[in-house]
Amino acid sequence: MDLLAAAERAASSGIALFTPVVVETGAYAQAGHGSAADWLGAVSGSSAAVAKSRLTAAERASGDRALTEALHDAELSAPQLKVLGETAVVVPGASETLLGLTEKGISHQELNDAATRLRAAALARHSEALRRARVQRARHLRWHQCPEGGIRGEFFCDEVAWAKVAPTLEAATKERWKAAGKRGGTALGAYRLDAFLDLLAGSGSAKGSAKGSRVETLVLVDAAALRRGSTQGDELCEIEGIGPVSVAAASELIGEGALRYLIKEGFDIKTVTKATRDVAACIDAALIARDRTCCAQPCGKRLGLERDHVRIDYRDDGATELENLVRLCPEHHDLKT
Ligand SMILES: [Zn+2]
Repeated sequence: MDLLAAAERAASSGIALFTPVVVETGAYAQAGHGSAADWLGAVSGSSAAVAKSRLTAAERASGDRALTEALHDAELSAPQLKVLGETAVVVPGASETLLGLTEKGISHQELNDAATRLRAAALARHSEALRRARVQRARHLRWHQCPEGGIRGEFFCDEVAWAKVAPTLEAATKERWKAAGKRGGTALGAYRLDAFLDLLAGSGSAKGSAKGSRVETLVLVDAAALRRGSTQGDELCEIEGIGPVSVAAASELIGEGALRYLIKEGFDIKTVTKATRDVAACIDAALIARDRTCCAQPCGKRLGLERDHVRIDYRDDGATELENLVRLCPEHHDLKT
């Protein structure tokens, strides 16, 4: 599988290198294809829409020296190239930074996050407002019956709007997952749907759990970014469990009932909104700031992370201090237990 995956990346890289040549020469027309996207779709066995997105990525890469070099090294998958190409358009020099990360073998989620952070930092506040207005205009929730049975749906919405309801949904999901124990073997996503349907129906357990447990939105932000009103470079401004957002977007959450800010000054966690002398809360804050995604590499999940004693177990008097703690996704935590 490792060899085949490497071969797949090599093939993707080669396709990205050579498609711009075919487009430029117009050779696809000689073979009777109406457009370059039709041609690539026919050759690679994909839809014209997928082919079009690959063509765009290849086109962008051909104008970027670092990306072209990486393609010659046969190291980039099609999804990675898409992220890198899209980022390079907005952020000059982003390719070097992101390629450094892909070489380290980070997960696709972490690559996406890093790209989103770089893009958010590069965009002026004005264009950031335009971006959010565009998301708001395109918002939707669609569902349809599948030919093979069952209802399938998707939605698209603003990060801030989602941050207001997601913690409640995640808390209800986790509660169901925990209650089911190991026997079900059912994926977390299945319980998320159950919790979602219950919340919509306004019925029973999901509602109760949201009241019972502590549900809050957590925003993690660099002090410098907060002072400036926008992020620069790889500074953080992230809604826990959701992802990177602009400082303006994060600020909109002020005034929401259950909100906690973690403000990062260098490597120190300065503020946990209300001043706290509680050591456990401080360690918790530092842990959240350090482990942004699941520590079981290369997992990269960031939803519902749980803390775990890594070197010496809690039952064997393992210390609850930063060096002895990591954050794991529920699945990896369960696997380890
Ligand atoms: Zn994990």
